[in-house]
Amino acid sequence: MSQLSSKLDFFQESVIREMTRKAIHHDAINLSQGMPDYSPPEELITGLLKAMKEEIHQYSITYGRYDLRKKIADKFRNYNKIKLDPEHEITVTCGASEALSSSILAVTDPKDEILILEPWYENYVPLTHLAEGKPIFVPLSSDDFSLDQEKMLEKTTEKTKAIIINSPHNPTGKVFTKDELKFISDLCVDNDLIAITDEIYEYILFDGKKHVSLASISDMFDRTITVSGFSKTYSITGWRVGYVGADIDIMTGIRKVHDYLTVCAPSFLQYAVLKAFDLQKEYFAELIKRYQENRDFLVSELEKLGFNVIIPAGAYYLFADISDFKMSDKTFVNFLVEEKGVATVPGSSFYQKDSRTSKEGERFVRFTFSHKIETLEKAITRIKRKIEKM
Ligand code: PMP
Repeated sequence: MSQLSSKLDFFQESVIREMTRKAIHHDAINLSQGMPDYSPPEELITGLLKAMKEEIHQYSITYGRYDLRKKIADKFRNYNKIKLDPEHEITVTCGASEALSSSILAVTDPKDEILILEPWYENYVPLTHLAEGKPIFVPLSSDDFSLDQEKMLEKTTEKTKAIIINSPHNPTGKVFTKDELKFISDLCVDNDLIAITDEIYEYILFDGKKHVSLASISDMFDRTITVSGFSKTYSITGWRVGYVGADIDIMTGIRKVHDYLTVCAPSFLQYAVLKAFDLQKEYFAELIKRYQENRDFLVSELEKLGFNVIIPAGAYYLFADISDFKMSDKTFVNFLVEEKGVATVPGSSFYQKDSRTSKEGERFVRFTFSHKIETLEKAITRIKRKIEKM
């Protein structure tokens, strides 16, 4: 008899995180995992030092410090146009990752069908399996990753419990339009579905795009779980502080799971991130400028090298079509990391295995542009050398 749960047969460890280990092993420039090589804002470091002085070393209240939940509620109201009660409807978590885990575990019964748009961010599928739900994959259109409304209707059944949405989208940089979000909201209302919306890249939007939260669309408030966090916006992916907002009935369930999964997010880091709310709109404008410049640089350099890039409208990843190189994604990615020292992620890891659509993923490689231009330049120089020799 196996010592391990059969649930684990359905998935493997993250390919993205594996690529980081390979990057370390080969001393490669790591353009795989989305980690900024920028320092966090000074204010957060000041908050961190203050947390040490204040001796914040013990558990916080399970749901997160009240003053932090209050600040998050203000941000939800002003930026996302969602009114959430900090007392009952917001929970601070160990990153958006834990917010997603607690949420998926809280709403899923065995065999419930969970709609997942393909390609997807790696965590959604394993989490659905851990919750004993059934992931139902709905491919986005293969040319521009827009919503395929017909497919969505086709895949929605009486067993469908929830849909997971991510905008701005990892890995493609797609930002769902208001019309697409309206379609999703109608689908949820008509079929009594819960929407779990991952908005971790909500501040990283290009070319003047504006963020729209699904929960702000009419009739969606009491059926939407909104997940976000501090990792990406403030370059603190290692701090592991995120949060989730949902109406009181759903949040009561999420809090039960969160309590037993983690007890609380690190107390001193909750204190430190309070300082994030002192930052003014210039900070967010600068953030967009930085990543837009990085995007433009990487897109234009990769295009010169023969990649066919789908221009991302948000987040800090791009999906590059490598069809012209006549190699599968995995071969290409291994070649880049082993031979030339640049780590990326094979596109197929964002698609289901052994299916028609997994073939679709094999024509892509994901690059992150969360790194300084100097780092991107070095990576391009390394790739160029290799490609010229190919
Ligand atoms: N959602 C998406 C779409 C992500 O890309 C990531 C991080 N790569 C997360 C969630 C997890 O974020 P956190 O660091 O806050 O756990």
